[in-house]
Amino acid sequence: EENTMDQIVGLCKRRGFLFQSSEIYGGVNGFWDYGPLGTELKRNVRDAWWKDMVGAHDEFSTLPNATKPFSMVGLESSIIMHPQVWKVSGHYDLFHDHMVDCTETNKRYRFDHVQGRWAEAEKKTKSDDGTETSSTVKAFITTIAQADETQDALVAQALKFFGLKGKYKDKINWTSELLSLEKIDQLSEAVAPDASKAGTFTEPREFNLMFKTTLGALGGEDDAAFLRPETAQGMFVNFKNVVDSSRVKIPFGICQIGKSFRNEITPRNFTFRSREFEQMEIEFFCYPGESSEWYTYWRNRRYNWYTSLGISPDNLILREHHKEELAHYSVGTADIEYAFPFLPQGEYGELEGVAHRGDFDLRSHMEGKLDKDLNVQLNEHDQPKYRGSGKDLSYFDDQSRERFIPHVIEPSAGADRATLAFLCEAYTVDEAPDDKGKMQSRTLLKFHPRLAPIKAAVFPLIKKEGMPEAAAGIYRELREAGINSTFDQQGAIGRRYRRQDEIGTPYCITVDGQTAEDQTVTIRDRDSLEQVRVPLNKVTEEIQGRLKG
Ligand code: ATP
Repeated sequence: EENTMDQIVGLCKRRGFLFQSSEIYGGVNGFWDYGPLGTELKRNVRDAWWKDMVGAHDEFSTLPNATKPFSMVGLESSIIMHPQVWKVSGHYDLFHDHMVDCTETNKRYRFDHVQGRWAEAEKKTKSDDGTETSSTVKAFITTIAQADETQDALVAQALKFFGLKGKYKDKINWTSELLSLEKIDQLSEAVAPDASKAGTFTEPREFNLMFKTTLGALGGEDDAAFLRPETAQGMFVNFKNVVDSSRVKIPFGICQIGKSFRNEITPRNFTFRSREFEQMEIEFFCYPGESSEWYTYWRNRRYNWYTSLGISPDNLILREHHKEELAHYSVGTADIEYAFPFLPQGEYGELEGVAHRGDFDLRSHMEGKLDKDLNVQLNEHDQPKYRGSGKDLSYFDDQSRERFIPHVIEPSAGADRATLAFLCEAYTVDEAPDDKGKMQSRTLLKFHPRLAPIKAAVFPLIKKEGMPEAAAGIYRELREAGINSTFDQQGAIGRRYRRQDEIGTPYCITVDGQTAEDQTVTIRDRDSLEQVRVPLNKVTEEIQGRLKG
């Protein structure tokens, strides 16, 4: 049986939300194209973020010392920046993953993933009293079977693990059947693992995640440049430009939506880990003394943003990083994580990180990067390893007449991960009556109306008696009011409803036999299936009202 994630992926392709990039050539790993409906959906996600973050500051009065709304301004910085930016930011030296090659599968994996999952599985081979039983072996195998990105590699390692006791080997067809629970049952009877194990991986090696390119036709090593791995640095290097040009006063935020690129070792899980993706980032600059309160403010406000757009709090967690996980300059970092269906029960995947970054970034771009910041031995004279801009990026507060380097709170979200979470959350299978009143299973996307790619569908019940003309009139009026709508007169009415349910259209408007008599039409609600009659000339107003909520 197909699992939920496979069904979502299937729907996305079938209905034009997402396609593999360059699919007719076999695709390219880690890159995705948004189809007609996916493009609308993602645009709605971006627009909601922009409108809610840049446009709305109604909560300002609850903030520390706030007597007026704070400014949030936009920026679009270039994808390729001065190479020194990435040296000073630390990405050049520190932005890497460790990779291992598996000698069994000839594939490459992220070391921390393989290691983490294996350690977790191995722990389960022993029961509380330290013995191995068939149920601990079963737990071990199940953990491996549930591994997402690293399953092949773990299977190979498990094969070695058990293979040491050669007598089990012929009983086990690991590679193809590990996922079958029946097989796991069988295995747990047959196998008692040996505690020793053989490694099947090469030593972990560092791998920088930045895509490198060359500037100019005659470019050599000195002309190497990088595609940005985050949009954040664009905001830091423009801090002074923004302050000098737009009269913003601290506290204020700079917001940017744009593409970022990371040469991920194992792009997996649909769009969750891609090599090209879009970020929605805020750098919020504040007084150092107020930064903790702003950190809490943004953490909560960002969490609430997802729930306000329909993500259930049951599937969304705010995970505060432990002290040991924090970068040395950071006072706090929290991840907003979603229970994606491709993850094992109880596990969550990051949608957004909200980080308190102190004055680290602005200071680095002023003063440069010392060796000690890069975790390498301090050089003799404590000279910066990489020189900063030398520009003064401090802020002069004309109230207190003081000059200081602002602290930064950074809510950094992924537009593609958010879009995927909204898709997963919306995916629902329920039952609804068909044209003959018989209950049938139906697939629907319960998008929040703000996110739905199409807001309303207009149907003439039949293609005569003036119904198509009346429906076309409604359709035109909705479009003119800026409501993205569709017109459909193909097939039985029940099938037309199902087609709209499956792409998440919240409202269907039908012109029927009664319309000519009393000038009313039906409006059907996607989720409740409730139908009400509304005067023809009130349809746009009614839909506008419902969309506002
Ligand atoms: P991960 O640990 O999953 O690699 P990260 O902690 O490196 O993510 P950040 O550097 O904090 O991620 O980036 C901020 C946001 O950008 C993430 O929360 C995520 O939404 C998005 N993002 C980062 N990497 C990717 C990717 N490879 N594909 C899609 N979105 C991404």
